[in-house]
Amino acid sequence: MLGDIKEILIEENILKNRVKELAAQLSEEYKGKNPLIICVLKGAVLFMSDLIQNMSIPLEIDFMATTSYGSGTKSSGEVRILKDLDKSVDNRDLIIVEDIVDSGLTLSYLIKIFNDRHTKSVKVCTLLDKPDRRSAEVKIDYIGFEVPDEFVVGYGLDYDEKYRNLPFIGILKEEIYSNE
Ligand code: 5GP
Repeated sequence: MLGDIKEILIEENILKNRVKELAAQLSEEYKGKNPLIICVLKGAVLFMSDLIQNMSIPLEIDFMATTSYGSGTKSSGEVRILKDLDKSVDNRDLIIVEDIVDSGLTLSYLIKIFNDRHTKSVKVCTLLDKPDRRSAEVKIDYIGFEVPDEFVVGYGLDYDEKYRNLPFIGILKEEIYSNE
């Protein structure tokens, strides 16, 4: 697996420290609010797990799955819900936790859905932001790291369902996906 990585972009200790900082910030800003943390599957699972373990306030979690890149590295531009939330979001403070915002299409779709569901507030926390490729305008409230326009894997992010278990964020060698 390591041989498929061109470069380590964010080392494990840097990742973990930044996640702790985000958790402290969220704990402060959501004191007394019991937020509902929404993990967008599957890429955000590791991030959300570390994030909530470092949060010091009462909170609840739920999961949502949308279509993503399938086995390729380019978005189809079409977003679909594969799994909806179990809980009602009525009058709740939501924090959407994403692995990476690329075109922004997934996020703008999710925000639109939640805005139609009578929530109290909706904010977005993403581990990675790839602003160069944005095609839909989205407001991101909390960002772990900005990354360049490269296909990254690790710490939950996959290529063809692999590499999610790498403890760092790395750039995948182009030859791995060049036959797409
Ligand atoms: P967007 O809708 O913003 O274009 O991207 C949504 C999803 O595409 C992300 O949640 C993520 O699953 C996937 N994605 C976008 N860029 C990358 C990347 O560089 N690496 C990986 N592994 N997935 C990505």
